[in-house]
Amino acid sequence: MSNPANSGINPFEVALTQLDEVSTLIGLDKGLHEFLAHPKRVLTISIPVKMDNGTIKVFTGFRSQHNDALGPFKGGIRFHPQVTIDEVKALSMWMTWKCAIANIPFGGGKGGIICDPKRMSVGELERMTRRYAYGISDIIGPYKDIPAPDVYTGGREMAWIMDTFSVIKGNYIQPEVITGKPIQIGGSLGRNEATGRGLSITVREAAKKLNIDMKKATVVVQGFGNAGQFSAQLVEEQGAKIIAASDSKGCIINKNGINTASLRKHKEKTGSISNYESSQTLSNDELLQTECTILIPAALENQITKGNAGKISAKIVAEAANGPTTPEADKILFENKVLVIPDILANGGGVTVSYFEWLQNLRREYWTEKEVNDRLDTNITNAFSRVYDTHIKHNTDMRKASMIVALNKVVDAIKIRGLWP
Ligand code: NAD
Repeated sequence: MSNPANSGINPFEVALTQLDEVSTLIGLDKGLHEFLAHPKRVLTISIPVKMDNGTIKVFTGFRSQHNDALGPFKGGIRFHPQVTIDEVKALSMWMTWKCAIANIPFGGGKGGIICDPKRMSVGELERMTRRYAYGISDIIGPYKDIPAPDVYTGGREMAWIMDTFSVIKGNYIQPEVITGKPIQIGGSLGRNEATGRGLSITVREAAKKLNIDMKKATVVVQGFGNAGQFSAQLVEEQGAKIIAASDSKGCIINKNGINTASLRKHKEKTGSISNYESSQTLSNDELLQTECTILIPAALENQITKGNAGKISAKIVAEAANGPTTPEADKILFENKVLVIPDILANGGGVTVSYFEWLQNLRREYWTEKEVNDRLDTNITNAFSRVYDTHIKHNTDMRKASMIVALNKVVDAIKIRGLWP
């Protein structure tokens, strides 16, 4: 997977520009604006690791804690060669907004290690992950900062971090220090599909507002990975027809419809969606411009730009990926009356079920999958409705409306708590 650092766009500058625009729109006090423009804490650590060939390699890792006015910091840990401190800071700020919009009692955090996990052995990865967990152990904790998976990390890494933290902080099991764990050690049912399920709920609500009949809707999905597959499957369950999809190896189209379960099997068997039965190939540009009702970018950053935004025919763009639309493209889509459901709203299902996992761990109880999904539906439906109403009230796009909802909530909490001393 690529990363914003590749595009030459500094993600922290983008995050600050978004904050500036919305602060102006709501007339935010200059001091509070300044407060929110800086993460509360950014930790940089060196991570010495014994490699399999006997040498020692030193990796650099970060943990950015943006704001905790609403609750402990929350956000993933990414392993990628292009991780930068600015990327981690930006992602931590976006997590502050995402948690506030989803109405869950967390602030925003994010972590990362500059490394290439695809070129490391499992042993090297485990030693690096555990040493990183040790390095951040004083600033994370069940009531301080609760990490989660992100790009190229998953249940395995979360289990190593939970174990390391539990051993060094009292030597008793503390599953509530991290989410996205395997089910056997306290992970939540429904977590795998949560991002796609949350996205499908926002699409369902948007379709109601725009009077779109989901049974007649057609869908294009860019990126048939975790978020993309479940998003596609769950909008298909609402009656929509998936007509085109892509992954890093190619793009396919079949206007008669593509069954997502069968496409997933094909991908599991062959490693890609390419050469799927009865489909034709097309380019990435053609994929994004395919005539459809709903476009779901679920792969990379900066895919919808000022160069192609005017050619997008979808009525709804639902962002499963983080940052797929550039600010210039946002303006074009808004003028063209395309409803963009922004990442901080559309993919908030993942962090919402992470919150449910944390609650279950703290109470040492397990919820059924139905309970998780029902509570997710209530949270995301309410979040969508708050953002949609704000977008109508301020006559602004859904991204700015999401930010207005988030900023108001965070700023209220800061004001009510007061500034110590
Ligand atoms: P993933 O690795 O499971 O899937 C990414 C997919 O994109 C893969 O199928 C890959 O082949 C495809 N891809 C890569 N390059 C491509 C290209 N050039 N063209 C088309 N497809 C390409 O990752 P994921 O977890 O599904 O994450 C995807 C996006 O969703 C990321 O932006 C991530 O930050 C965001 N997201 C994911 C979650 C989650 O819970 N998984 C939560 C919030 C946000």
